[in-house]
Amino acid sequence: MTAPKKLFIKTYGCQMNVYDSERMAEALGGEGYVPTDSPDDADMILLNTCHIREKAAEKVYSELGRYKGLKAEKPDLKIGVAGCVAQAEGEEIVRRQPMVDLVVGPQSYHRLPDLLAKAKTGARALDTDFPEEDKFEHLTARPKARRAPAAFLTVQEGCDKFCAFCVVPYTRGAEVSRPVDRVVSEARDLVERGVREITLLGQNVNAYHGVGPEGADWGLARLIRELAKIDGLERIRFTTSHPNDMDDDLIAAHGDCDKLMPYLHLPVQAGSDKILKRMNRQHTAESYLKLIERLRAARPDLHLSGDFIVGFPEETEADFQATLDLVEAVEYGSAFSFKYSTRPGTPAAERAQVPEDEKTERLQRLQSLLTRQQRALQDAMVGRDVSVLFEKPGRTDGQMVGKSEYLHAVHVTGADVAPGDLRRVRVLESGPNSLMGTVL
Ligand code: SF4
Repeated sequence: MTAPKKLFIKTYGCQMNVYDSERMAEALGGEGYVPTDSPDDADMILLNTCHIREKAAEKVYSELGRYKGLKAEKPDLKIGVAGCVAQAEGEEIVRRQPMVDLVVGPQSYHRLPDLLAKAKTGARALDTDFPEEDKFEHLTARPKARRAPAAFLTVQEGCDKFCAFCVVPYTRGAEVSRPVDRVVSEARDLVERGVREITLLGQNVNAYHGVGPEGADWGLARLIRELAKIDGLERIRFTTSHPNDMDDDLIAAHGDCDKLMPYLHLPVQAGSDKILKRMNRQHTAESYLKLIERLRAARPDLHLSGDFIVGFPEETEADFQATLDLVEAVEYGSAFSFKYSTRPGTPAAERAQVPEDEKTERLQRLQSLLTRQQRALQDAMVGRDVSVLFEKPGRTDGQMVGKSEYLHAVHVTGADVAPGDLRRVRVLESGPNSLMGTVL
């Protein structure tokens, strides 16, 4: 028997990349590769890249530079670049780093085995097309290994919104939704392997419009209700959404679908209508606030999370104040906030930029407000009972960690619980980033 070859995947960016990396590992599993945590003993290194941060491509080139020595020692080592930087840079990658054997865009992972075969002949393998076929259809051979209790499942990819700061429509292409039956069968498979919570993923997941079994398009709410029928699947979440795609049925599902968790990540980006317009967000601050009102009417304990970009071109102090006002009005349970940074190729990169020190100062003010809100909502959980899906042992002896329905990390100590157990927990304490409690 020949020893299995080892595959090291370094994943950058969002949960969709985490999911894609798992699927790539499975596709290459069929070629005899097993995962390793160390690039040093790998036979193949794959960087699954993300283009969302500033200088993303430069970071990938410098990471590749680190593997030069390894490649010189082991000429058979295969090095690949996948993901959004691969899509954006294409051939430029092999031009600048000739040791790279294969470059594969996010829509072509199902072609990895073929690309690898080509790379083994010494030829350079490059695929950054947007093929018509569904890559997931070709990635069905999941090995039946046991899975952690919470898993991601990509149901939609790409985006048609073209926000002025975002590269997704260019790197991931137009919106594509997976058919309902494929999503349901993958969810069933995950549940059989021990998964109890599934987070449905998509760059614009609530724009989901997959073909149902009878041939008509299904929206995300209908898909969620169908998934909720699966015995053993206890929790469903979804991310990331655009406010304009939050339709009536999806709002209602937050109130009437027990398995849909009371946590929603709904990016707004800014609170000034002028800036929202410049961002091409296609909604206003008021329409966003009205939507939150309707969601909270359907599910009063809904915890909200948001994304914010501070210092977008032409943002004045008054525009920024409008963002603070919106945050005050919503009260977020968690949030991600960043300074605007130009991303080449996006329309906003061409406009008048806010000075760096102003961006920094505004970001600090926004983050201190968001942290106060997050802390207040978390502290308000003390004394309440939450449901916790336990995921893994904690850092200290006898400690177990899980997630509440609101996505708080919850620690308990000395309880008779195992990963996958779903239990009621009384919250006793609120720490900096997590809750401590006792199993009821
Ligand atoms: S909706 Fe989201 S993914 Fe689509 S362009 Fe806007 S920020 Fe990017």
